[in-house]
Amino acid sequence: MCNGLRARNKAVNWHPYTQMKTADHIIPIIRGEGVYLFDNEGNRYIDAVSSWWVTLHGHAHPYIAQRIFEQLNTLEQVIFAGFTHEPAIQLSENLLSLLPDKQEKVFYSDNGSTAVEVALKMCIQYHHNQGKSRNKILAFRNAYHGDTFGAMSVSGRSAWTQPFGEMLFEVIFIDLPHKDNLEELKLEISAISDELACFIYEPLIQGAAGMLMYKAEDLNELMTFCKEEKILMIQDEVFTGFGRTGKLFAADYLSEQPDMMCFSKGLTGGTLPMGITTCTSEIYNAFLSDDPYKTLFHGHSFTANPLSCTAALASMELLLQEKTQSSISRICRQHSRFAIILQEHEYIEHVRLTGTILAWEYKNEQHTSYFNDIGKVLYEEFLSRGILMRPLGNILYLVPPYCITYEDLEYIYDQIILVLNKIKEEV
Ligand SMILES: *Cc1c(COP(=O)(O)O)cnc(C)c1O
Repeated sequence: MCNGLRARNKAVNWHPYTQMKTADHIIPIIRGEGVYLFDNEGNRYIDAVSSWWVTLHGHAHPYIAQRIFEQLNTLEQVIFAGFTHEPAIQLSENLLSLLPDKQEKVFYSDNGSTAVEVALKMCIQYHHNQGKSRNKILAFRNAYHGDTFGAMSVSGRSAWTQPFGEMLFEVIFIDLPHKDNLEELKLEISAISDELACFIYEPLIQGAAGMLMYKAEDLNELMTFCKEEKILMIQDEVFTGFGRTGKLFAADYLSEQPDMMCFSKGLTGGTLPMGITTCTSEIYNAFLSDDPYKTLFHGHSFTANPLSCTAALASMELLLQEKTQSSISRICRQHSRFAIILQEHEYIEHVRLTGTILAWEYKNEQHTSYFNDIGKVLYEEFLSRGILMRPLGNILYLVPPYCITYEDLEYIYDQIILVLNKIKEEV
């Protein structure tokens, strides 16, 4: 039975990143459990992308649900200016205890883009409060930091940002570091370091750009240089945080420490929206003043919502459990075995792996355009086999919830090989 959900949806809803004229296959989901999503026609899908990289412990997790329910009956929301509450205090304490030592203060917002906006505003005002005007920002080509105007400005210019081109502020883009271009990058940076408010980057992996990976040691060297040049660093861990890279944070692969960090996506285990920006006491102290104009005038109606804080506390508790940590290691091991098989396939190139994130590319004449048809074909093909994947053009990736079983992950790998062989027959 269809319940008419598709027709009712089409009549009223406008979906993200979706050309609504041609979007005729939008699937009503009625229930989630663990790695599975169930649609209104009785089909089951393995959520191999963790519903846009957010779901860590599976859908409708009973422990997180119970904690949220208890909090809902105690305090659902309170204004966070002039008031505070236990869940926000506890969450900040717990998170800071896991982050690099220099991170000392927590600022709450609602999603990854706002976590980035807050970090950018902190940086710019940090200089402003000291009577300096350093307004240019350094970022990587192809970066993705979100869809609000500030976050869009520091993201790579693409079809997504094209209509807004003139309205985005000035950002200097550099290539990802590797051992052969590091010296060149340092020269580029030192030429403008006096004007730079900050450097923002996705550590180890550029997610939305297509899971482009680069070495921790190269990033570390760039960070050391930025520190010498007194350039503030914003480490955007919205995607990489909370176990995705195999360690708790990408920061755990680096010896240098950033000045600010951004979190969202896995923060609440994918249950409720929330963003966090953390900073050093050096940043924080630059806003302490008898002059009211030095205040950080930023906030959101739902800043530090107690339900979201509680969901994050429950999710982090699960994340730190032995059982979850060993699942993460097992996923990493399974991925690395499958990566070897993929690498040998004649239709595959650029296989790459960081922790629980595995990506590869289909060899394709037209190359890596988001609008490539191969992505759409593969998307439908995997759905028909009960697997939710979302190719970025000819780039495919797996970002599974940590609760995925050995068997379900092997099932996905088998289907990937079967689909490859099917394409081979059709060519
Ligand atoms: C998804 C993402 C964002 C934006 O987060 P939203 O919650 O979608 O606004 C920012 N930075 C990175 C690295 C991301 O992957």
